[in-house]
Amino acid sequence: MTCSRCKTRPVIKLPNNNISLCKSCFIKYFERKVRKTVRQYDMIKKGESIGVAVSGGKDSLTTLKVLNQIIKPQKTTKLIAIGIDEGIKGYRNKSLNIAKKYCEENEIEFVVASFKDEFGYSLDEAIKKIKVIPCSLCAVFRRYLLNKKAKELKLNKLATGHNLDDETQSIVMNMFKNNMETGARLGPVTGIKDDKKFVRRIKPLYFLTEKETATYAFLNGLINNFGSCPNAHLAYRNKVKKLISDFNNEFPATKYSIINSFLEILPDLKKKYKKSKLKYCKSCGEPASKENCQVCEYIGMLKNG
Ligand code: SF4
Ligand SMILES: [Zn+2]
Ligand SMILES: [Zn+2]
Repeated sequence: MTCSRCKTRPVIKLPNNNISLCKSCFIKYFERKVRKTVRQYDMIKKGESIGVAVSGGKDSLTTLKVLNQIIKPQKTTKLIAIGIDEGIKGYRNKSLNIAKKYCEENEIEFVVASFKDEFGYSLDEAIKKIKVIPCSLCAVFRRYLLNKKAKELKLNKLATGHNLDDETQSIVMNMFKNNMETGARLGPVTGIKDDKKFVRRIKPLYFLTEKETATYAFLNGLINNFGSCPNAHLAYRNKVKKLISDFNNEFPATKYSIINSFLEILPDLKKKYKKSKLKYCKSCGEPASKENCQVCEYIGMLKNG
């Protein structure tokens, strides 16, 4: 077997396109696809300040690397990496050190915010105090803190490392839980309508699979062995991930079909939920789906033990 473009030794077979690519052709293919997504969804405008949520994992470092390549020559556009320290002993400290090193080597500003400083509890402490699924609390606190930091830094958009596999899982999870309004906020650019209290997320890796992202990260020395989060096995997402993967192994176009069907109905979903009035938390004033936002509810539970 040879590379479908230059006839040298391939490093990856792309089942969807039925082509094999060598290292250099694959890197070009990957970066071109990210640039196309950024352009197609108007993710970055000249002069904007763009944040990248960076954990030190392969997806976020890949996003940071490719966006830095796109933004650097523009001069007027600014890029800042934001790390969130949830306080997961033996895991997050290691991954954030890797992110810090990468940013130093590439002259990218790196800002870190922690659960402990913001909420008074690290994730490890919080899940000892109250009975919750760690990932549920972690995701709510992280989303809030990223948004807060992005506003403080006056960022126009916040890029995340979500890839095609992550998005298919989110789509299916929202369907399984009948959360279509939350589903309407997904897509390559998140949110339903502009809200000055919410910095929109962009997902430059939207059309690249987990396998493609891992391959790109590996070929560029961005894979680090700090293990996985000790709470990951408890996540609902993991069960959905396994289900989609099993199905995709038998029917390889499944993930693309989920994404493409979703993108077809997304404009109608956004239109439908655009009419619902934006609500703000009575305690903290941040966007909320109920009277009190989920962050304030968790903080109340933590205070009351
Ligand atoms: S696996 Fe769960 S607890 Fe661990 S970092 Fe991710 S969301 Fe947080
Ligand atoms: Zn090639
Ligand atoms: Zn609140």
